[in-house]
Amino acid sequence: MAALHGQQNVFYIPSSVEQEMSKHMFLSLPQEACGVMLGETAAGGIRISRFQPIRNVAPDPLHHFALDDAEWIRCIFSEPKLIGIFHSHPHTKPVPSLEDMQALPAFAGLLQIYLIGSPDLTTGLRSNMQLNGYQIESSKIPHDQSQDIVPSYNLLPVPLCVT
Ligand SMILES: [Zn+2]
Repeated sequence: MAALHGQQNVFYIPSSVEQEMSKHMFLSLPQEACGVMLGETAAGGIRISRFQPIRNVAPDPLHHFALDDAEWIRCIFSEPKLIGIFHSHPHTKPVPSLEDMQALPAFAGLLQIYLIGSPDLTTGLRSNMQLNGYQIESSKIPHDQSQDIVPSYNLLPVPLCVT
């Protein structure tokens, strides 16, 4: 586990994929958009090769996201491999919310990348997306009351390199 510390990863993302993500986010407004990233682990980083939009089936899609089960399961078995998840924050900064952290254990074990996008309100350009990347780090820590080992997950900011 100590080997992981200090290791600096980079997420490589083709500009065409970044644009697809951005387009999906703006078309979904005012609702939250979501989807998954497919790709592979490469030397010194993780290479995203595809973005697959997934239907947001949350009862309140203006403020939450929930992946459509059937579409999600199809992606688990896809090629290239499922490596990450994306969702948008239509009105707030692209940083993980408390609810995002609470929902993380539901799928984090399958993923390495966590991306959040927001409309870039600072530039005044309505078609610009602010995109933040996080590495999903798991640490198995003993649970308080018992000897059971439960996985817990952290999101560490990782630089995005658009290629
Ligand atoms: Zn969120």
